[in-house]
Amino acid sequence: MDGQDKSIIARDTIAAVSSGTMAAAIAVIRVSGSQAGAAVRALAGRLPEPRRALLARLRHPVSGERLDEGLVLWFPGPASATGEDMAEFQVHGGRAVVAAVLDALFAVPGIVPAERGDFTRRAWLNGKMDLTEAEGLADLIAAETEAQRRQALAHAFGHLGRQVEVWRGWLIRAMALVEAGIDFADEDDVPSEARALARPEVVMLLAELEAALADRRGAMVREGASIAIAGRPNAGKSSLMNALALREVAIVSDEPGTTRDVLEVALDLGGYKATLIDTAGLREAEGKVEAEGIRRAQQRISKADLVLWVHDLSGPEAPEIAIDSEAEFWLLGNKADLTAGTPVLNDPRVSRRFELSVATGAGLDELTAALETFVAARAQQGGEHPALIRARQREAATLAISHLKAALDGWDGLSEELLAEELRLAGRALASITGRIGVEDLLDVVFREFCIGK
Ligand code: GDP
Repeated sequence: MDGQDKSIIARDTIAAVSSGTMAAAIAVIRVSGSQAGAAVRALAGRLPEPRRALLARLRHPVSGERLDEGLVLWFPGPASATGEDMAEFQVHGGRAVVAAVLDALFAVPGIVPAERGDFTRRAWLNGKMDLTEAEGLADLIAAETEAQRRQALAHAFGHLGRQVEVWRGWLIRAMALVEAGIDFADEDDVPSEARALARPEVVMLLAELEAALADRRGAMVREGASIAIAGRPNAGKSSLMNALALREVAIVSDEPGTTRDVLEVALDLGGYKATLIDTAGLREAEGKVEAEGIRRAQQRISKADLVLWVHDLSGPEAPEIAIDSEAEFWLLGNKADLTAGTPVLNDPRVSRRFELSVATGAGLDELTAALETFVAARAQQGGEHPALIRARQREAATLAISHLKAALDGWDGLSEELLAEELRLAGRALASITGRIGVEDLLDVVFREFCIGK
């Protein structure tokens, strides 16, 4: 594990509650570090057999006061989640009980409260997981939909990490060939032959990385598709948002221009995450506040994957789409209960049309089903999981690509040393994806995402 600072492993032993909200039936308190065994002895009187539950009375190590009765588990390192000695106390999940047990643990010399993500950080430091697995774990804990859970699980079990190792393998072979040229620089044929052999590896790697970067499914599953609801004031956008979200998220009013800001709500559409964005009614701004709302709305719409353009069928206006966006547009003729008649609109951007009444609920099921199909198709259910799912991973791949391109551009002209240097930099960028090298400044960002106790 080049570059990883092992010295900090020998620091304090940490303890924290790892289970959820209290009060609950049971709370799990975890301890990791060299003093974990001492902590168990101090509170429970003895060490259980490794990985066997022991029912024990827990006492405060200083006052001797009885705290609770609970299960104690002992996981001697390195065969533990963090790689260090670990212990787990399963106690009654009341606030006072947990506070008292933690207080007792902190009375044991060398035990301190864990910070966010500390347990996972130690697991990474001890080589129990790479950075992509740690990120997968964070995603797994945060997963709200089935697709997110499946993707996060694959990453937590090393999906991207293994892929990166394959890519690095190709690069290392190419580098070895180019460097062989350096060693045999005075023999005529060796350098150019070695270089010619290395080129296909680099070309293949570049193609793979570009394909992985072009695959937006991972980000789509993780962040969700963004669906903007737009249209003229009073068309029924806020009502539609509420109907889709099945709860009151937007202010519905019959006064034009009430939705002054951009409202967002996360939906689970058939197992996929989608973010529904209700934008301020688009019309001539009357006040400053509304102008700002419209500016923000336009910004969001331009980035959406799908725009639902809501049109009031009962109104006098033609259903003209008054915005610019690369997104797909669906035209929703609303208030069908007030009038019959499909809006005529020949905008080539419109791919589907729906007639509905948010007031009566007519047509909403059909719309919801279509939205589910849209989101699932975008995320492409099934098949292999995409490799790059986070901005951090994509940035590293982009950097690797730029070095590979620089290498290929100068393939015949560059000296062996310069060529090898570009390949080395590409390898460094790839290695930073799994956290092998060059990630010191990123660690806080990665592990801060976790809660305390994870
Ligand atoms: P927004 O400005 O586009 O967000 O529109 P709102 O959702 O605030 O709705 C404007 C008005 O139209 C409100 O009084 C809603 O109750 C009403 N409305 C919305 N949808 C329908 C519908 O399908 N039928 C009827 N009759 N009224 C509706």
